Amino acid sequence: MSWEDKVRKVEPYVPGEQPNVKDMIKLNTNENPYPPSPKVNECIMSLDYDRMRLYPNADVMPLRKALAAYHGIDVEQIFVGVGSDDVIDMAFLTFFNSEVPVLFPDVTYSFYKVWAELYRIPYILKPLDKDMHIDPADYSGENGGVIFPNPNAPTGVLESRETVEKIIAANPDSVVMVDEAYVDFAGKDASVLPLIDKYDNLLVVRTFSKSRAMAGARIGYCMGSKKLISSLEAVKFSINSYTMNTPAIDMGVASVSDDAYFKETIEKIVNTRERLKEELKKLGFSMPDGKGNFVFAKHESAPAKEIYLALRARNIFVRFFDTPGINDRLRITVGTDEEVDKLIAALKDILEGV
Ligand SMILES: *Cc1c(COP(=O)(O)O)cnc(C)c1O
Repeated sequence: MSWEDKVRKVEPYVPGEQPNVKDMIKLNTNENPYPPSPKVNECIMSLDYDRMRLYPNADVMPLRKALAAYHGIDVEQIFVGVGSDDVIDMAFLTFFNSEVPVLFPDVTYSFYKVWAELYRIPYILKPLDKDMHIDPADYSGENGGVIFPNPNAPTGVLESRETVEKIIAANPDSVVMVDEAYVDFAGKDASVLPLIDKYDNLLVVRTFSKSRAMAGARIGYCMGSKKLISSLEAVKFSINSYTMNTPAIDMGVASVSDDAYFKETIEKIVNTRERLKEELKKLGFSMPDGKGNFVFAKHESAPAKEIYLALRARNIFVRFFDTPGINDRLRITVGTDEEVDKLIAALKDILEGV
C-alpha cells in the first residue's frame, strides 16, 4: 500500500469566496455590514504586544465569565472555540460517536455533512416540507444525534420554540445541537437557550461572526448542561489546549460589554431585511419569511445562475449554490441600506435585459 492509499480522503467544505475588489458590494457570506462595537476597536488599540510571549488562558475564562454573566448561566455551562465551526467540529467528535446515524435536514449548513464524513459518522438527511420547515416527526426514534440550525441556513426559516422543544424531548438518549448562528436576528423568543437547564442533552451553539460583526476574530461558543460542557472540554484538551488567541479573547469580552451597540446594529439589519424582501417581491422574487441576516430568493422567470453572474459582473457578490433543489435561488446577505439600494437598482437593470 502506498502512502497515498493511507491518506484520509475528504471532500472539504467550500466557503463563500472572499473577493478583494475595489468598491465591491459583498453580500455572499452573511457577514455584518457594520463594524464591531467601538469597544472592540479600543481593545485592539490598547493591546499589549508583550503579552504575545505568553500562552493564552487555556480555559478562556475571561470570555466565558463575560458570556455567563450576559446569559445568566454558569461558566461551567459554556464552551468557547475558534468560531462556531470549531465548536461544532469538536461537538461532532465528542457527541456523535455511535454506529447509529445522526440526523439533519437535507437543505442546511453544508458543513454538517463534511464533518460527518471526516469522522466517519453515519448520517441520514431529512427532507424539509414544501414550506421549507422541519418536520419534528422526522427527528424521533433511535439515532446517533441531531443537529440543525435555527433559523435554518440557507433558507432563513425559523422553527418555533415549541417545535424545537418537541425534538429535544423526543431524543433523551441523543445530544441535540441547535445551531443558533442567526438567532439574534430572529426576535427575542426564538432561542431555546432557556431550555438548557431542563434538558441535559441540549447544546445551543452561537457565533460572534454574524450578529457581533466579528467573523475575522473567529469566536464561537456553545451552552449546555455541565456534563455536556465537560465532555467537550475533555476532547478539546486532547487536541489543542490553546485554541483561542489572547487578542480574540479580549475582543470578545469587549464586544459582550457593549449591549446597546449590539442591539442597535441588529435592529438596523432587521429593518433593512424586511425592506429588502419587499423590494425583491416587487421585482418578481419570492422567498420564505426568513429571520436571519439574509434572504433566500427565487425569481419567477430568470434563472438564479444568470442573475448571480450578472450581479458579479457589476462587483455585487451574492451566494448561488449549484446544488439540485436550491439552484433556482440566491442567498443574499442583508447589507447596509445603501448597499441594498444599489443591489435593487442593479437587479432592475439586469431583469429588464433577461
Ligand atoms: C456562519 C455559520 C456558522 C459558522 O460560523 P463561524 O462562527 O464563523 O465559524 C455555523 N453555522 C451556521 C449555520 C452558519 O451560517
